[in-house]
Amino acid sequence: MAHADLRVVNARVVTPGETLIGGVAARDGTIVAVGSESSLPDADRTIDAAGNYLIPGFIDPHVHWGLSRYEYEYHEGLAHDFETETRGAVHGGVTTVVNFLLQPDPYVPDMDYFVEAGEENSYIDFAYHAIMHKEPHFDEVEALAEKGVRSFKIFYNWYKHASPELGIEHSDSGRVYRLLDRVSDIDGGVVMFHAENEDLAHERRAELKAEGRNDLQAWSESAPNICEAMQIESIAKLTEYTDSTSYVVHMSTGEGVDICRRYQEQGVDISAETLPAFLAHTNDKDLGVWGKISPPLRGESSKQKLWQGLREGVVDYAGTDHCPHRKPFKEKDGGKYGDIWEAIPGDNNGIEYFLPVMMSEGVNEGRISMERLVEVCAENNAKRWGLYPRKGALVEGADTDMVIVDLEKSAVVDDEFYHTMEPRYSTFHGEELTGLPTHTIVGGEVVVENGTLQVEKGGREYLPRHADGVAIE
Ligand SMILES: [Zn+2]
Repeated sequence: MAHADLRVVNARVVTPGETLIGGVAARDGTIVAVGSESSLPDADRTIDAAGNYLIPGFIDPHVHWGLSRYEYEYHEGLAHDFETETRGAVHGGVTTVVNFLLQPDPYVPDMDYFVEAGEENSYIDFAYHAIMHKEPHFDEVEALAEKGVRSFKIFYNWYKHASPELGIEHSDSGRVYRLLDRVSDIDGGVVMFHAENEDLAHERRAELKAEGRNDLQAWSESAPNICEAMQIESIAKLTEYTDSTSYVVHMSTGEGVDICRRYQEQGVDISAETLPAFLAHTNDKDLGVWGKISPPLRGESSKQKLWQGLREGVVDYAGTDHCPHRKPFKEKDGGKYGDIWEAIPGDNNGIEYFLPVMMSEGVNEGRISMERLVEVCAENNAKRWGLYPRKGALVEGADTDMVIVDLEKSAVVDDEFYHTMEPRYSTFHGEELTGLPTHTIVGGEVVVENGTLQVEKGGREYLPRHADGVAIE
């Protein structure tokens, strides 16, 4: 058997068919063998996994690079965030990312820049979704698909009452219908939804402010569970009517799980993603404005139902909704316990805590098996976004993107924990997490070893998405 560059041995290797004792060998960034140690070729370098798990690197399908545009121009912000946030990603065991493009101008004329910004600055391969919110965006569906962008996010009702300064337009049912209908003609096309009803939330915010409330629980009460349920119900009906494919991002409620299950059983192509924050936190936690995310944190029963949904296949995807904001910007200079209504929604550092939280709260707490976790955080994300089997699985021919996970290794999330732009806060700050990566390997290169970065940024690839996965070459 031909010599390999790298081998990982003495591992519990999670593959799509089975978890086996052995290892993986790679040459030129591609997996050439998976199996027992004696079946693997010799290699220039061998890493002993010490009996730990070897899994495909996580794929984060939900991040917002470019939010540091509040300090830089948007395009500079995108390049900036690719460097700082994917540096965090590799420390946390995430090896592919799908970022949401968001700008008022049409996207297609800027695609070359978007690709270059990632290629020059990212530590991992990347793909894109586009947020459709200005009228000209809706005419770009086919041209974006040509460029490898086949997923289109829409704010259905949400942001209807937002200040025009935010620069994001909401969409009504008519526009949603138009987008679903158009994307249903795109091979592999998916419409992604932020599912919250802002008409209701707008009224609730006014009531709670009038009562003088200024606490995290009030933020949750301002967008009650039915805000999400109402929109998911409408999304499912419109998806059925247009015979299209829809995907609910950051689903937070047990009601959402029930509605998705009901429509899925009827054969409607609606799927859902949830976040570590909704699987680990509840709205009574003392997080101050750091816990202000959108949709808001929920109660214990939603948390339980989301785990159940993940186990049972109603919820098939996990991501982070990582929003890189500087701390003073997030807090609007009011500190951790400042004005909850003025603070900026969004959680920081998600991509770096993604794997540790899922290991700590999921596998180590017995809420989910390692195999199902790998499906929802790697394999399914690769399939959904047209990257499989090049990404998301430890199989011959795939990219060598993999992580060794020590389920007993733990760390407290403090200022030293993160390697992103802003390590000083997240919704997990101060918590201890157990189940951490010891090695992150990207494209056959060991990029992080025991907490130390081994490579320079850049040299990664844009992944134009195909209708039915990226074929192994
Ligand atoms: Zn988001």
